[in-house]
Amino acid sequence: MDQDFVRTTLETLGGDACVTCSFQVEDMIVLDWLRRVRPEIPVLFLETGYHFAETYEYRDRMVREWGLNLINLEAGQSVAHQESVFGKLYQTEPARCCQLRKVDPLMTGLSDYSVWFTGLRREQSPTRANLQTVEKHRLPGGKVLDKVSPLAAWTWKEVWSHTVKNGIPYLPLYDRGYRSIGCEPCTTIPEDGAHARSGRWGGAKLECGIHTFSENQG
Ligand code: SF4
Repeated sequence: MDQDFVRTTLETLGGDACVTCSFQVEDMIVLDWLRRVRPEIPVLFLETGYHFAETYEYRDRMVREWGLNLINLEAGQSVAHQESVFGKLYQTEPARCCQLRKVDPLMTGLSDYSVWFTGLRREQSPTRANLQTVEKHRLPGGKVLDKVSPLAAWTWKEVWSHTVKNGIPYLPLYDRGYRSIGCEPCTTIPEDGAHARSGRWGGAKLECGIHTFSENQG
């Protein structure tokens, strides 16, 4: 996979494309290819209000340096309001918290597009083992779009080899041992030898729902 794959895919599929980006290392590889082919591509970031300070700093740095068309997708209520009504949902009902702060905003955000690029890889967790590079997905509202994951078959080693070789800046949290980085309250450093997403939600779940809410039609 390379920049040419991204260019050809955009030409073949046509329509309006976007990329979701949590500013993790895989997303940055896909984004680096996309920005060279289509600099104005919308970069959808799930602004949950719970990210690490380092993630916000890195996001803002890369937006400046790469001239990204960043679109922050926000929940219907602020973190302060949500916590005043429900308390810390990430402790008591993480599925509901993810639904409110990630899944619902993404469902709305994706309705404007017909092609959705991601940085997903099969190796990231057992829940992603059958991931295909291009899949048709049906959103709950009925819209069908193409979900494109150019790194589906890539290994962690390949990701880092490409990142270093191409001088792509990366989120400094990786240097502290994090492997899969999301909201701060739900992200820990995985045990040695465990798969990357075992450090999310204390191992209680593996997916926040943004890659399982749509119906995979193959
Ligand atoms: S990852 Fe944690 S803090 Fe973020 S939306 Fe999900 S439960 Fe809430």
